[in-house]
Amino acid sequence: MSYDYDNVFAKILRGEIPCKKVDENDHALAFHDIEPQTPTHVLVIPKGAYVSSDDFSAKASDAEIAGFFRLLGKVARDLGCVEPGYRILANHGRDAHQEVPHFHMHIFAGKDLGRMIKPAE
Ligand code: AMP
Repeated sequence: MSYDYDNVFAKILRGEIPCKKVDENDHALAFHDIEPQTPTHVLVIPKGAYVSSDDFSAKASDAEIAGFFRLLGKVARDLGCVEPGYRILANHGRDAHQEVPHFHMHIFAGKDLGRMIKPAE
């Protein structure tokens, strides 16, 4: 899948549409999901143009990968998610129902998340 520069997260990164920013570093941005599914629902995205986690891991520099995961962990710590627990999740492609074709990881927290993801009906 080639990268679509018109996707909504690309527009957020270019400042064309707003987001509720949580934090950022040189390589990644964290912001609140517009339709939160849990009391805390934050998205962490790389600032580079990557479609998915496999695309990111294949093409991103070591600095980008480190920056992304350092921000992911920092956000979880700063939002108080570590002690009660949290879930991180990334969707890619049709079977995972990925909506936005820019690599992102969801951080879900703030309630008991259950043991596993429920299968689609
Ligand atoms: P996914 O199915 O993993 O691609 O999830 C995409 C997520 O992006 C969904 O949880 C949406 O609610 C969220 N989303 C879509 N547009 C925006 C936006 N403008 N700001 C914040 N989150 C968004």
